Amino acid sequence: MTSALSTAGLFTASGFTFAEPFTSQDKFDLRFRQVHLDFHTSQHLADVGAQFDPEQFAATLDQARVNSVTCFARCHHGYLYYDTKAHPERRHPGLQRNLLKEQIEACHKRKIRVPIYTTVGWDQFTADAEPGWRQVLDNGMLQGTPPNEPGFYRLQCLNSPYRDFLKAHVKDIFDSVPVDGLFFDIIKPNECSCPRCRRAMVQQGLDPANAKHRQKYGFDVMYEWMREMSAFVRSFNKSEDNKASIFYNGGHIGPDIRPVTNTFSHWEFESLPSGGWGYLHFPIAQRYGRTLGLDCLGMTGKFHTSWGDFHSLKNPAALQFECFNMLANNAKCSIGDQLHPTGKLDAATYELIGSVYREVEKKEPWCAGAKPLVDIGLFTAEEFIGGRVPPPTAGALRMLQESGHQCDIIDTEADLSRYKVLILPDEITVNAELEKKLSEYVSKGGALIASHRAGMNPTKDAFALPALGVKFKAEAPFSPDYIKARPALAQGLPTGELVIYLRGHEVEPVAGSEVLADVYPSYFNRTADHYFSHRQTPSAGKPAYPGAVKNGRCIY
Ligand SMILES: [Zn+2]
Repeated sequence: MTSALSTAGLFTASGFTFAEPFTSQDKFDLRFRQVHLDFHTSQHLADVGAQFDPEQFAATLDQARVNSVTCFARCHHGYLYYDTKAHPERRHPGLQRNLLKEQIEACHKRKIRVPIYTTVGWDQFTADAEPGWRQVLDNGMLQGTPPNEPGFYRLQCLNSPYRDFLKAHVKDIFDSVPVDGLFFDIIKPNECSCPRCRRAMVQQGLDPANAKHRQKYGFDVMYEWMREMSAFVRSFNKSEDNKASIFYNGGHIGPDIRPVTNTFSHWEFESLPSGGWGYLHFPIAQRYGRTLGLDCLGMTGKFHTSWGDFHSLKNPAALQFECFNMLANNAKCSIGDQLHPTGKLDAATYELIGSVYREVEKKEPWCAGAKPLVDIGLFTAEEFIGGRVPPPTAGALRMLQESGHQCDIIDTEADLSRYKVLILPDEITVNAELEKKLSEYVSKGGALIASHRAGMNPTKDAFALPALGVKFKAEAPFSPDYIKARPALAQGLPTGELVIYLRGHEVEPVAGSEVLADVYPSYFNRTADHYFSHRQTPSAGKPAYPGAVKNGRCIY
């Protein structure tokens, strides 16, 4: 599975650089080989950390060529793993030693960086102690795992006194251990109907009964909390070259995060292909995030499936592919593991991680400081239809990856002048502002490809982008239907009609545009009265309207 490596050669340290969209307050140059060492440890265990040997811990990491390890201050069960000064009631009841501090000191001796993990959204200790701090759904129920089911998936409200606790907790971390960085987990929009949130919404002229207002308010609360927390963390920085890294994890980096980019020091793309993210999430998120000017870290797991899958190992070829894919996409590597409650690292896990990280280490000279050389900007549909793997973007990216075309994933705020070609897949509708931006791009010689509803106005009843050279008539009358390329587009395609499974549009070319392909309807649509064989009715053999139209440097 080393073939993924060849794409790393597409990046070059001497390649072009583009203007950063902004300057973050504290940019970080990350290490290449990180482990994210989960430690969500039930309170029903004694002997926590009893078998921890600082020297053996750091040596095991070092031998596996790990040079950064995220260790735990506090977990989703809500417990602390260091000798806290401020919150002794939250120290894990079974904890046998000052675990986090010993982890950090042992790693620092070997020049291993130790960012510190703490949870924000999920905290079972707090959920039990202060049920009034939990998020409330719009039906009045408490958000999250029901009381008689296992799991700590119960979100805290950031408008509650929990917010003050978090600051006191962060201060306590700085007072108790050396801090290389902080990783805040489970950062989600605070969409909450608790009395505090309802009052605040009304004060801001928002309607708590309106779901759209609650969503907007939820984002505002999250953004505001992140700004406040980053300013607070930065107040502990000792000097310009001794700063704590800051990352807020919500399991995805997309256009929603752009407004608060400067609250981060870097990106970590949590994306375990076997853990629900799939194989297309990482490239989509990474190709977007890398355009925002911060250093990037991909994050997978060593697990057979996902987090908390104890005593399981990923297929080595899969772990290799995932890490090399990170390098090839201009990210550094992080592999998730969970430390056994006794505090001893699993030997087989670090043999596996070491086997991949030794290979990563050899490739680093070609990856450090590399910049992606990219021709194509592919719009993400996330801004329009939501979802961390929006199908129109996933489909277009898969085609580009498989055909070896280099692209960034972009949103409507992006600097378009970086790209020779823009692709608007299926759902990228165009308001007045975007129309102006795209028309300007085309008038300066940029090329553009749009499909289906892309290029239409937000109400999707007419094209809003004159440059496309097509007029909307109706939804396609037949579906599935067939498409056949004319000679200009036919190179490399099979001859004859090809099936299009989903319903498209019937369009008309405007004067001056050239038809590149035709749509061939079937004899009839498949209904109870008229159906044909097992699946779609075949082509009736007659072209009806354009399937692809070229106007100057634009293709619809
Ligand atoms: Zn609330």
